[in-house]
Order: sequence, then C-alpha cells, then structure tokens
Amino acid sequence: MTCAEDVRYVADVTVFAAYDVMELTSEDLSKRDIRAEIERTLEALKGRDEKELEEEIIARRRLDLCPSCRRKFLTSMPEGGPAPA
Ligand SMILES: [Zn+2]
Repeated sequence: MTCAEDVRYVADVTVFAAYDVMELTSEDLSKRDIRAEIERTLEALKGRDEKELEEEIIARRRLDLCPSCRRKFLTSMPEGGPAPA
C-alpha cells in the first residue's frame, strides 16, 4: 500500500481459532471421546514449528492505512457481525 495522505488509520486485525469449550453441550461430551480427540490433536502437533502453530491459533496484523486504503480494506472484508463490546 503506497500513499501520501496525512490522515492515517490503523487496522488492528486479530484472527483466532473460534473454538469455544463452553459451547460444548453435555450431549456432545457424552457422545464424543474428548480425551481421544485431545490426544489426536497433540499427536498432530508434534514436530510442528512453534511459530507456525501459534499463527494457526492466533494471527495478528497491524496495518497502517490512508483514507483510500482504509476504504479498500473495509470493502474487501467479508460480511461479519459487529465486534463484541
Ligand atoms: Zn494508502
């Protein structure tokens, strides 16, 4: 992004895995073998690059935008709900 305007905007974007343990119902817990799933997950993570793993769970990007880049950035965003308060 190249620009020469004075007004700047900062886009602080955090993309994180939307896995929420609290959303598991008791039915889920009884039907699924959570322990086995955790072990499978840990097994899959073995030998992976730590930085790469972190990026997979949470990726942060800070963008410095001028007004026209800001507009481009916002219009290129996929539709989503409002940010949580
Ligand atoms: Zn710009």
